[in-house]
Amino acid sequence: MTVIVTGAAGFIGMHVAERLLERGETVVGIDSFNAYYEPGLKEARAARLEGRERFTMVRLDIADHEAMRALVADSGADRVVHLAAQAGVRYSIDHPFTYERSNLLGHLSVLEACRHAGVKHLVYASSSSVYGDQPLNGAGFREDEPADRPVSLYAATKRSCELMSQSYATLYGLPQSGLRFFTVYGPWGRPDMAYFSFTEAIMSGESIEVFGEGRMARDFTYIDDIVDGVLGVLEHPPVSRHEVYNIGDSSPVGLFTMISTLERVLGRQAIKVLMPMQPGDVTATFADVSKLNSLTGYRPRVAIDEGLERFATWWRGFRGVN
Ligand code: NAD
Repeated sequence: MTVIVTGAAGFIGMHVAERLLERGETVVGIDSFNAYYEPGLKEARAARLEGRERFTMVRLDIADHEAMRALVADSGADRVVHLAAQAGVRYSIDHPFTYERSNLLGHLSVLEACRHAGVKHLVYASSSSVYGDQPLNGAGFREDEPADRPVSLYAATKRSCELMSQSYATLYGLPQSGLRFFTVYGPWGRPDMAYFSFTEAIMSGESIEVFGEGRMARDFTYIDDIVDGVLGVLEHPPVSRHEVYNIGDSSPVGLFTMISTLERVLGRQAIKVLMPMQPGDVTATFADVSKLNSLTGYRPRVAIDEGLERFATWWRGFRGVN
């Protein structure tokens, strides 16, 4: 059977599609190749996939609900991994309507397409940002905590997706799993994310802006661990019809620690400029992954030192830097 992956030219989507192909699945990727960041990077990711057997890329805006409905029905797909979205917390402050189209209308369009086609399991991306701004108190965020205080429009749209999905589970019995990803990083990553933009700045001798004066912490999760989580959940359509799972590393890393790790793997010092907190940012994230572990045996395997080393190796190759 076929698996549809939306956002297949994106960072997580490319890796998920690649692993599915390695497992012998047939994959239809969907992506609008939006201009949020470096078009050449999306084209390069797509080229990696398009060279493989049993892979087709369809260039489509998921919010085009008639086209989506026809595509999902015609593909004969029984599982959908929905990762297409307008990502980025800070960008949502200045470009709110982009989030309405891709994240709200787009998610609804995927839901409609899946229910009409009788899809057996829809796995979709949510985000750690739904937890809002919480202090670290030694324990990770749990899925059964209230998630009703988003501090960015991005977070609000991701929480809205979860609620829309819950309604489709109740109304139509559509089996779905929502995945709350925690700061994903690694090769083929997103240039708008701090570890990537810091790398570019450090290597070209430019200063880096350290928001929150460095007092932020993130549960950085290596891409291969995320893919393990996504594929593990995909095999388990929930009996309750809708569940949400954290996928994280479960070990928050301070921003200064992340920067010093980058300095070590890059062999260069960063020029740091301390800046105040940005609107929409949260102080810390920390995943409790016990729910996912109970379902699939999930355990994150790649720690930040190793993960950033692998990222730096990829980055040097991609940018042609020694
Ligand atoms: P990404 O921006 O690299 O990938 C998203 C892809 O979706 C892009 O290629 C984009 O062109 C495509 N897209 C956007 N709007 C579309 C539309 N309307 N129609 C078709 N395609 C569209 O981002 P990513 O980091 O790979 O994130 C994947 C998913 O995971 C997103 O839903 C994101 O919100 C979520 N997420 C990511 C992280 C992270 O740290 N990377 C953390 C939490 C949640």
